Amino acid sequence: MTQPSVPQWRKDALQAAAGIAGNEAVAAALRDIEAEHELRIAQQTELSQIPSPPFGETARGEHFAEMLRKEGASDVTIDPTGNVIGRLRGTGEGPVLVIAAHLDTVFPAGTDCTVRREGSMLYGPGISDDACGLAALLQICRTAVRHGLKTVGDIVLVGTVGEEGNGDLRGSKALWAAPNDYDGFIAIDSAAVTRILKGSVGCKRFRITFTGPGGHSLHKFGISGSAIHVLCRAGAKIDQVEVPAEPKCTFNIGVIKGGTSVNAIAASASMELDIRSMDNDGLELITSRILPLIDEAVCEENAHWHLEGENAVKAEIVQIGDRPAGVNRDDSPVVHAAYGAMQALGIPLEKFAFAATDQNVPLALGVPATTLGGGGTEFFNHSVKEHWDSAGAFRGPQLALLTALTLTGVEGLSEPLLEKRDHS
Ligand SMILES: [Zn+2]
Repeated sequence: MTQPSVPQWRKDALQAAAGIAGNEAVAAALRDIEAEHELRIAQQTELSQIPSPPFGETARGEHFAEMLRKEGASDVTIDPTGNVIGRLRGTGEGPVLVIAAHLDTVFPAGTDCTVRREGSMLYGPGISDDACGLAALLQICRTAVRHGLKTVGDIVLVGTVGEEGNGDLRGSKALWAAPNDYDGFIAIDSAAVTRILKGSVGCKRFRITFTGPGGHSLHKFGISGSAIHVLCRAGAKIDQVEVPAEPKCTFNIGVIKGGTSVNAIAASASMELDIRSMDNDGLELITSRILPLIDEAVCEENAHWHLEGENAVKAEIVQIGDRPAGVNRDDSPVVHAAYGAMQALGIPLEKFAFAATDQNVPLALGVPATTLGGGGTEFFNHSVKEHWDSAGAFRGPQLALLTALTLTGVEGLSEPLLEKRDHS
């Protein structure tokens, strides 16, 4: 993906973050985060060892809610979708910032989630993505409460369900669909603290199932339509689709299935199609070019073999994924506060990028939103070989806390950078 150009950094954000970082109580809190590095690793390990497969996040969610309560968050609840939501109350006058990490993993039920440690390295599926973010949330909560950091705005801490794959951001979607007072959003997802997201990659996914009567490959040849033949015809058409150079748009037939035997005409075949763009118009454009090709392929196949009635082939299209694209304004307070906090902490900005995370939902609604790393270094995410180097990982919660303080403001010290939205 092409990298977006870096904006003119806001002076007010740089000054606010530097001023807050220099405050005595905040500086002590930031030191405390480093001092409690081992506790953070212990909590991350504890959460990572509770299996949390797609659509099976309840056990980890309940445990995380309990941990969040113990760390001093108020009003900790689990919403009907399974999101865990707690709050750090400010003065009640300011904007409300959500910081979220996801509870789910990509690993199916039955995966061994035991975490093994060797020095600074921790091995275990999901240890980085996103037990790392969940542990960072707990540490932010504990530190803010213990040091009595009084923000102007509220900080809402959320463990979301359904961020990965077919979860299709259902936790984040439910969070933003419910009545709320949220004005900004930060996801803590995976490790690297040197990356800020400027915007979201959107995607639409479809499963297209072709069906026909099936039959003997010799006796029914030319009489019964083949689900696989029509699928191939459709695939060849999709392969010819032109995409614009800007915005970047992609398509991929990632999975095909079908047929039962080499000497049987296939009665069923399916393909899974992924369409991506950093722009919602781009998504619509490619979708509008591809989907009509399915019907075209079916008509051509039936016409070519003179197939009618029960001998004809058919297609059914089911949408299995929908993540909207979105981009921050150039002056987005969330992006600028994150950069200001990085500068104050001496963290270099190495990547200013687009990706798909829980931020897709608020960004598409026009809410300033970004994604930060939880600290450390990750390896082989989304694989059972996943491991995470905890060296320097305290940088993650430090960055997220300072960014949050810059956005919500600190009483008697700085005004919130985040603006209140119209919630009426
Ligand atoms: Zn993740």
